[in-house]
Amino acid sequence: MRKNIVAGNWKMNKNVIDAQQLMFQLLEYKKNNATNCDVYIAPPSLYLMMAKDLYENNEIGVFAQDMSEHESGAYTGEISADMLKSIEADGAIIGHSERRQYHGETDSHCNRKVKLALDKDLTPIYCNGETLEQRKSGQHFEIVKNQTEVALFTLSAEEIKKVVIAYEPVWAIGTGETATPEQAQEIHAHIRSLIANKYGQEVADEISILYGGSVKPDNAKEIFSQPDIDGGLIGGAALKIDDFAKIIEGFNS
Ligand code: PEP
Repeated sequence: MRKNIVAGNWKMNKNVIDAQQLMFQLLEYKKNNATNCDVYIAPPSLYLMMAKDLYENNEIGVFAQDMSEHESGAYTGEISADMLKSIEADGAIIGHSERRQYHGETDSHCNRKVKLALDKDLTPIYCNGETLEQRKSGQHFEIVKNQTEVALFTLSAEEIKKVVIAYEPVWAIGTGETATPEQAQEIHAHIRSLIANKYGQEVADEISILYGGSVKPDNAKEIFSQPDIDGGLIGGAALKIDDFAKIIEGFNS
């Protein structure tokens, strides 16, 4: 059975004191509240070890915001899968639209990163989604199909089952503009059917597909109630404990 997941992507925010405080608040929240989903955070890489130390019982999953497609070597500024594994991180976000926009990442890069993460027993959270122009011109189904095929369809059935997918329409990220629950659901169902056609329904049914793009406390519940939406990748609203907690509670009945 696939998991419900709420994952917070902190991006390039918070100094060490503020990061530690939010990690601690989240731990307190988790200890005091039963949650109906797994909770992950992706803080800046500088703070990953701190998170792992604090969450010593793995109460909260700890993810990098990116990782290198290379194993090791002369790649200044990069973080390897082995390094993440060595601090017992749980995985990495791969192919976030900001990596694509500002660092030229493509689905071929994502494909190599996803494979490397899986080889090292890390969970990849693979992101895809169309731009505003692509949606306006009605290409969104085709764009997401190509992204999914290039990034994931070289994997075996056993491998793809371990991937978490985050559908994040670029026009909804950090804009306050959210896909309607119906718009998100139809793309999630589309992604799941692509996987079912290639790997079979049983495999497709095991994969958590998260929605990302201006999820907030007041829209989380409705978005998460869609049959093919298994949680959210949250940016801005993951930076404040009250907002993030309310989003987690979107899975409470
Ligand atoms: C994100 O960056 O993955 C994201 C969904 O951001 P926001 O929630 O701020 O739109």
